[in-house]
Amino acid sequence: MFTHKVVELSYLEQQLVYEAKRASKKAYCPASKYSVGAALKLDGPEIFTGANIEVPCGQTLCAERVAIISVLMSPKGMMLRSKDDGQLGMMWLVVYTKDAAPSCGICRHFMSQFAPLDLRVVSTDGVMAYHRTLKELYPYPFVRVYPDSA
Ligand SMILES: [Zn+2]
Repeated sequence: MFTHKVVELSYLEQQLVYEAKRASKKAYCPASKYSVGAALKLDGPEIFTGANIEVPCGQTLCAERVAIISVLMSPKGMMLRSKDDGQLGMMWLVVYTKDAAPSCGICRHFMSQFAPLDLRVVSTDGVMAYHRTLKELYPYPFVRVYPDSA
């Protein structure tokens, strides 16, 4: 993991922080008031976003999964997921919360199904940015075939 101030980030990274923060304003979190936004950059020009949606009794969707689902439901996602490896070309995932919390375990597993282990995952509070790879967050994912055993 490495840390930067948001103002030190590249233009693209700052744009993703901005989009993630903007997406967090769409969160539905009446109980916790803990809004989260995610901005997902694929290897093309598009940026997909998501916000957390809280539903009682364990049905909450995190912003990260909503962003990935928005890719899956898009025309590009429909095309990408028809490939054998199921990868979506995810390059960056920026997650904005008031405390720059890292992604939960369910999201780490969810990401691992659609992203390479070198996916750059940034958690930010809008001031600081904490960079990790998916492999750092989730070093031993459940996958159909382990990359080093093929
Ligand atoms: Zn999560």
